[in-house]
Amino acid sequence: KVLVGNLIGEDHVNYVLMYNMLTGIRIGVSRCQAKPARPLTDDDYTARHKFSFDIVGNELTPSAKYDFKFKDYAPWVFRDLRDEHFHLDPADYLLSLTAKYILSELGSPGKSGSFFYFSRDYRFIIKTISHSEHKFLRSILKDYHEHVKNNPHTLLSRFYGLHRVKLPRGRKIHFVIMNNLFPPHRDIHETYDLKGSAYGREYPEEKAKINPRAVLKDKNWVNRGRTLELGPEKRALFSEQLRRDMEFLKHVHVMDYSLLVGIHNMERGNRDNLRENSLHVFHPEVRPVRRKPSVKPPSEASNMRKAVRRSDPKMLDVSSQLPADGSADRRHFLFYQDEGGLRATDEANQDMDVIYYLGIIDICTPYNSVKKLEHFWKAMTEDRNTISCIDPSAYGRRFLNFLLSVMRNGDINLRPSGLLPSD
Ligand code: ATP
Ligand code: CA
Ligand code: CA
Repeated sequence: KVLVGNLIGEDHVNYVLMYNMLTGIRIGVSRCQAKPARPLTDDDYTARHKFSFDIVGNELTPSAKYDFKFKDYAPWVFRDLRDEHFHLDPADYLLSLTAKYILSELGSPGKSGSFFYFSRDYRFIIKTISHSEHKFLRSILKDYHEHVKNNPHTLLSRFYGLHRVKLPRGRKIHFVIMNNLFPPHRDIHETYDLKGSAYGREYPEEKAKINPRAVLKDKNWVNRGRTLELGPEKRALFSEQLRRDMEFLKHVHVMDYSLLVGIHNMERGNRDNLRENSLHVFHPEVRPVRRKPSVKPPSEASNMRKAVRRSDPKMLDVSSQLPADGSADRRHFLFYQDEGGLRATDEANQDMDVIYYLGIIDICTPYNSVKKLEHFWKAMTEDRNTISCIDPSAYGRRFLNFLLSVMRNGDINLRPSGLLPSD
């Protein structure tokens, strides 16, 4: 599937849902943000704030176009994540999402039935999630928050909010807001969703030829002979962060996640991909906001460079976190600092003409649900090898080994053993 969506106009089936999501976010987030900051308490992790919207409005909620209920989960925790750890400017966040009430819908790119929506400037993704994913995310929120605190450069999805909309006839829709890994201003020439397992992990090459925006998988990566081109310095930092993130996912018993990799080839630039269906030309109002190029304060830029030169794992720790100034959040993150991504480097650590946009996505599936899913598939297909359901430690090991093995000069003892067992 492609990573560009259809704009939701007033006649779209999900217009009401979109309107309600955005109204809830606007009121919920600004309500919390208006209060003076305070330290988090344990109750903040389980808190939920309820809002009831109707056409008339009341002293707590302004009038809305429709009747619906909205729940804001752990608002103080997400506020802390956004403000302190993800370096989002609060006004910026709300404006991106709700200034114009425009989202574009990607439909359901995965098997899960989740829907994806992009904010008009393409920076944020709203993903609808199942009730069990929702419950799970709440249950690990404290651990997640802790991990993000200790790993400012984490590759895990950055969750900015968790909410629920309840429509009048009782339908409940849970959703998260997260970072779009892909930038609005660059074409992605190839996209991969890598898990480190072989089964079903191939996008048909004939189809890929006619669909440049296909999301390719592990086998395509291997068959096309792709490597992650990272010189020793970036390779060391990236492997170390992957390992830490994988340890976290193992600890909370998650599996089925993947590393999403978008490849931008600077020589090809943005020419051959005009995104004819995309946000850019659909509507003048959804053209991505071009920010003034942010000039990095020299100290920050050189700190980053120096740390990368040293490829010092301490660089990944909190102590080396740099002061925020509220705009252009991505430059605070080691792996998103080169035009919003990670520039390929050669063995001498010199820049190459490729930028990677990458991160670990789909991290809300605990082991139990995967097992259930597997049973379902087994019953359907009677094929015992359908999904090799392995526990989170084995999943994590296979994931990490595969990714290390596809880095140039990565550890060759770790050649993709997890891959291709079904051949
Ligand atoms: P399934 O469980 O079947 O894998 P899902 O509905 O849980 O599907 P994801 O795996 O989260 O969906 O994502 C599906 C696709 O959507 C990804 O392969 C990727 O192309 C795109 N996508 C998801 N998250 C992001 C993100 N943060 N940034 C950019 N693209 C994303
Ligand atoms: Ca997935
Ligand atoms: Ca999923």
